[in-house]
Amino acid sequence: MDPNKLNHANLPESGKLIRTRPRSADARPQTRPRAEGWTQLTGADGRPQLQFASPRVKQPPTHLADMTLAEREAKIVELGLPKFRAKQLSQHYFERYTSDPAHMTNLPKDRRDDLSEAFFPPLLSEVKRLVTDDGNTVKFLWRLFDGALVESVLMRYPGRITLCVSSQCGCGMNCPFCATGQAGLTRNMSPAEILDQIVQANRVIAEGGLGGVREIGNGTEAERVNNIVFMGMGEPLANYKRVMTAVRRMVAPAPEGLGMSARGITVSTVGLAPAIRKLTDEEIPVTFALSLHAPDDELRDELIPVNSRWKIDEVLDAARGYFERTGRRVSIEYALIKDMNDHAWRAELLAEKLNARGRGWVHVNPIPLNPTPGSVWTRSEPSVTREFVDRLNAAGIPTTLRDTRGKEIDGACGQLVATEQDRIDAARLAGSLTI
Ligand code: SF4
Repeated sequence: MDPNKLNHANLPESGKLIRTRPRSADARPQTRPRAEGWTQLTGADGRPQLQFASPRVKQPPTHLADMTLAEREAKIVELGLPKFRAKQLSQHYFERYTSDPAHMTNLPKDRRDDLSEAFFPPLLSEVKRLVTDDGNTVKFLWRLFDGALVESVLMRYPGRITLCVSSQCGCGMNCPFCATGQAGLTRNMSPAEILDQIVQANRVIAEGGLGGVREIGNGTEAERVNNIVFMGMGEPLANYKRVMTAVRRMVAPAPEGLGMSARGITVSTVGLAPAIRKLTDEEIPVTFALSLHAPDDELRDELIPVNSRWKIDEVLDAARGYFERTGRRVSIEYALIKDMNDHAWRAELLAEKLNARGRGWVHVNPIPLNPTPGSVWTRSEPSVTREFVDRLNAAGIPTTLRDTRGKEIDGACGQLVATEQDRIDAARLAGSLTI
């Protein structure tokens, strides 16, 4: 839409747009959110049930990546070896991406197997790998030690390699549009299970599994994941402690961790306000993304059930607080859904709420959905999408339509779910199914 067609008479000096409520004569329809093909679990009050606590189930075995370097050293001393061996083991895992004792030739031959057993219990077994975009997008399906299935998606972009990681098996947030939440929360993932997704992806890159081996830094450096987004399965802030341990290990210099830049790590949430405030206090300048998807509580209560606990204003205040403390611009994720949340007045209301909290602190990423004929969860018309983006930009809110790479392999955010076939493949892999 031509931004000049906006009513600039209503534009105050700050650039803030005044909300234009829909006029009944030309108002577009309002589609309400609803789960399709499954039933949302509801509580006694009839509202979608939220599940914050992980069920008490067996936890994964402790892995080297769960420990600090000092803890690894203490364990290696307990095993009767000098401290420096912990550093060597860490180098194998975090720098050479291997936990295979046969590759650890600088360790005493007669101890390699028991060291491997003590530090590298198998965490993620690959069940399936789907490749698309000429090899530049790879989706992994992993089976965890207890049979739970999670996914991660690896994407090559010009100048960066992104990995979308999972942080929980299932999810307790019960969003009606999301396949992951259908089965509820199975359990939280451990720090090492989160980190192993990155280490395994780095190994695949080094082996040429992401469109071939490419040289960087005049051929002196191996390519690796330099961008993490917590937008796979799970609500990362509902697994706060373990996710933060994993983040600390990502940014710790090698060989204690992966030596990544905190700025390249995006922690996203559907709006757990107290956890956003806690994240603010951590002083690790990760990129913070809020999956907002609606600027009005009436719609958001249905679209993101956790909104019934923490309303939009409280969540936006917490997000603004994150910017104030870290200086890191907050990303607002907004999936544009036809006739549900893509009305022009919603773009204006969103701009109004963001501008009311100051300028320059936020960036909006509208995300086009897949076209799904007959579903309430379908893509906005291109002209509607353009208008939505234009209205935000015209109100002074930097807005960029996001790339939705990986959709053709069903690996885009919010669509990550293990299919029945995946379960069969996983059972086969575990040797527990013979078909
Ligand atoms: S959209 Fe995110 S928070 Fe909501 S159910 Fe899916 S994974 Fe959980």
